[in-house]
This record gives sequence, structure tokens and C-alpha cells, in this order.
Amino acid sequence: MKKVLILEDEENIRSFVVINLKRAGYQAIEAASGMEALEKLNKNPDIGVAILDVMLPDIDGFEVCRRIRATSKQIGIIMLTARTQEIDKVTGLMTGADDYVTKPFSPAELTARIDALYRRLGGERRAETELLCHGPFVMNTRSHVLEKLGSRIRLTQVEYAILKLFMQNPGRTLSREDILSAVWGRDYEGDLKIVDVNIRRLRIKIEDNTAEPTYITTVWGFGYKWGI
Ligand code: CA
Repeated sequence: MKKVLILEDEENIRSFVVINLKRAGYQAIEAASGMEALEKLNKNPDIGVAILDVMLPDIDGFEVCRRIRATSKQIGIIMLTARTQEIDKVTGLMTGADDYVTKPFSPAELTARIDALYRRLGGERRAETELLCHGPFVMNTRSHVLEKLGSRIRLTQVEYAILKLFMQNPGRTLSREDILSAVWGRDYEGDLKIVDVNIRRLRIKIEDNTAEPTYITTVWGFGYKWGI
């Protein structure tokens, strides 16, 4: 189902939008503050369109828009502006919004704008990109980009291949031999220690605390496990 984020601190407006999104066949993800919206976008990388109110209790909608655009060029963004905020429309479009809707708006108007954005941004096509999402991590297997809480982590090709193998096999213990043959190929004659060396490097890049890894855990005497 197509996901739409609605960021609005006024609960009655938010619920009104949610009801209408559901009616129009969208799954609605709600946020009442800018920070909550950014968190939910991280957790749901398949959100195709975000509707952002401008006046919010923490960071304003334009700042949210800027931060979203810093990491995602593809998502569609619609700003919700008050009628008196003509200037906001301009600012909103400059910070990377695709469209704006002026309050008060009709549900039909809003869903028509969302439908149009989904069509224009190729929402259907975008869904084909495989995203592997676990905890704070999002791996895009088409662009080969790994993000942790929205920040890109640069990996070597081997590190990327190992991590992809883990993320495709969550909770499964993989022996060093499994990893070696999957990443280096079945005919690879090298030392198993190369697996350990790469995992040590990978942990430095992705773990919160390298001394106590929680994502790639060691299964003593057998191998490693993606622990989320
Ligand atoms: Ca507001």
C-alpha cells in the first residue's frame, strides 16, 4: 500500500487528513512534531509522499523539508500553509517542496495533489527498488547505499556484500565458510581470517559501541549473526 506521512501538530486537522487518506486508499503515517516526522521517515523509507505543516512546536515545516531533501531526492513533499502565509509558499518551494496546499483545504483537493505527485514521481516504479530495513539501517540494493538513522555510511564492496548477506538473513547464524563462499565465491582459496578482518572493520563503521557489538554478534565456535 502507498504510504503517506502527515505531519501536523493540530490533532483535529491531522485526524481529518488521516481519515481522508485512508478513504483514498493510502496508508497514513502520523507525526505531531518535526522530529517525530524525521524519525518516522527513517523507519519507513517506502513513504512516497510527505505532507508537512509549517507551524510546529519544535522545528518548522520548512526545516523538516530541508532535512528530508538532504537525504532523499525522490520523496514527494507537499507543504500545508495558512492563507496568510503567501510568502511561505515561495520559501517552501525553494527548500525543496514539490507542491503546497492552502488551509482550509478540501480532502478531495489534497488527495488529488498526492495522486498527482505519486504519478509524477513514479511511485509505483520506485517501489521496485529493494530496501532492506533493520533497526536504524536502510540498505538500498539498487544504489548500494547504506544509511544509519538517515546518515550515509561508506562501505567497501566487500563490506557491502557481507552486510547485505546479513540483512537478507536476519537472525540466522552464518559460519565464516558461508560468508566466505557467498562473498568471495566458492572457489576462493584464501584464509577464513579475511572474514574476521572485514567484520571487524564493518563493526567499526556500523556499531554504536565496537567493544560490545549488538548488530553483528559473534556466535562462538560457529560464526556471526545479524542480531536485530
Ligand atoms: Ca500547526
